[in-house]
Amino acid sequence: VKLSSLSLNSMLKESFKLSETVVPENIDLIYDICEEELIVKADVTQLQQIIMNLLSNACDALKQADKPNITCRLSADDMEPSFMQAHPELKSSRVAHLSVADNGSGIAKSDLDKIFEPFFTTKDVGEGTGLGLSMVFGAIQRIQGAITVESTRHKGTTFHLYLPRIEQAA
Ligand code: ADP
Ligand code: MG
Repeated sequence: VKLSSLSLNSMLKESFKLSETVVPENIDLIYDICEEELIVKADVTQLQQIIMNLLSNACDALKQADKPNITCRLSADDMEPSFMQAHPELKSSRVAHLSVADNGSGIAKSDLDKIFEPFFTTKDVGEGTGLGLSMVFGAIQRIQGAITVESTRHKGTTFHLYLPRIEQAA
C-alpha cells in the first residue's frame, strides 16, 4: 500500500468506467461528482477496491428491488464539532464526502453494528465471505478517515466515507 495525493474526482470517473462491468444493466447507476477538485492522501488501487466492494454489496441488496438504483456522490464537506467528537479517527474536519446509496433490501438494525467485522455475512455459503466491509473499514482507518452507514429495512442503505482533504498547492 503506497499513499499518494490523488484527485477523488478523477478516481471516481475511472471507477465509473470499471463499474459498468460489475453492475448489472438493469440497475440505474448514477455518479454525481462535484466540480471542485478534492485531493486526498490514499492508495488509488485500494480506493478502487473500496468502491467496487460497496457497489458489489449494493448490487446484491438490489436483487429483488423495484427500479433498482445506486447513486455515488462526491462533495466537499465541513464536519460539525459534534461529528468530530464522535469520530476521533477522522483527522480533519475538511473532508471529501463520498457516499454510495442504494434502494435495496436495507440492513436489519441488529446487524448494523456487526457488518464491519471480518467474516460477518448474511449471504449463503459461496456467495459472501464477509470480508468486503472489514477491508473497507481498515483501509479508511489507515488514511485517518471515517465511515458511517444509514440503512432502513426494505428502503435502502447509504455508506458515507469522509476522507481528510489535502490542501492543494497554489
Ligand atoms: P459479504 O458481501 O461477503 O457478505 P461484506 O463485508 O461486504 O461481506 O458485507 C457484510 C454484510 O453487510 C453483508 O452480508 C450484508 O448483510 C450487509 N451489507 C453490506 N452492504 C449492504 C447493502 N448495501 N445493503 C444491504 N446489506 C448490506
Ligand atoms: Mg461484500
